Amino acid sequence: MNFSNFGLDKRLMESIEHQGFTEPTEIQTKAIPVAVAGHDLIASSKTGSGKTLAFILPAIQRVSTQRALSKKDPRVLILAPTRELAKQVYGQLRLFTANTQFKTVLILGGENFNDQVKTLSKDPHFIVATPGRLADHLDQGHFYLQGLELLVLDEADRMLDLGFAEQLAKINKAADHRKRQTLLFSATLDHAQVNDFAADLLKSPKRIAIEHGH
Ligand code: ADP
Ligand code: MG
Repeated sequence: MNFSNFGLDKRLMESIEHQGFTEPTEIQTKAIPVAVAGHDLIASSKTGSGKTLAFILPAIQRVSTQRALSKKDPRVLILAPTRELAKQVYGQLRLFTANTQFKTVLILGGENFNDQVKTLSKDPHFIVATPGRLADHLDQGHFYLQGLELLVLDEADRMLDLGFAEQLAKINKAADHRKRQTLLFSATLDHAQVNDFAADLLKSPKRIAIEHGH
């Protein structure tokens, strides 16, 4: 398997090469085609198996090749359970959007709220965030999600374990429309709450579970 099998945009292929990635991991091999085709997806594989690129590449592919639903609203929202994990995802996203016109921002709990209000007012294309702080901004009307095209829930099991169900439901509702795609990643799918939750947030999702994945 090779990254060139996914039909990704030329500039994205160049970034992949530039970052030194030659072969997709198993979760990437299975998840990327499903995500690029526009399906909702529930995917699990162990920590360290490469889940981040499995959603970052389809996310960039989508915004690079499809028209925006809104001029102002963010196009992609990626939620991660902790500041540390959100920072890691953001770092990867920046590597792949460095030579594009897309604006990416990181919105974390514990940081200056007013600075984030300013950041959100600049109409970023991608937001990576922890759910609590993002829901606070949403409550206060600092940005809107009606035009959101892709919602990614990274480490969904941990987000639920950390008690973010209510915030996630609020974010889901704010971005609920026919064209939204949702990708849910989790270390495990034997988590009853994740399955109940997925039933509310995802539409006819495909399921991919890598048991001993690399
Ligand atoms: P997970 O989210 O499943 O825990 P990560 O996305 O954080 O895993 O990836 C773990 C490590 O593997 C990172 O250092 C990442 O750069 C690296 N990695 C991801 N995809 C590939 C690949 N296709 N080839 C080589 N290394 C990869
Ligand atoms: Mg991860």
